[in-house]
Amino acid sequence: MKTICAWCEKEGKEAFIGAKEPLADESETHGICGEHRRELEARVIELRKAAQRQREEAERQRREAENLQEVAQRQREAAERQEREAERQQQETEALREKVDP
Ligand SMILES: [Zn+2]
Repeated sequence: MKTICAWCEKEGKEAFIGAKEPLADESETHGICGEHRRELEARVIELRKAAQRQREEAERQRREAENLQEVAQRQREAAERQEREAERQQQETEALREKVDP
């Protein structure tokens, strides 16, 4: 049997890799040549790196969102304190007014 590289065949290159038993059988079986195996492995490594970068970016965005939520929470708390302070001052003002003009 003749083993031919499916990738080489697709690219129209010389695709024969080797022969295997039974040698009398001329039919073809598909495999992958060394060059295309290395190409595939390099692509897998690149895809893994890209996936890792995306995970890191997602993690960075998650932390950023968390920080923004914390900032928003602090701003809400500050707004509530100011609201309470405004109420307190209003009550104080009303109390003074009642003293001056009962
Ligand atoms: Zn090949």
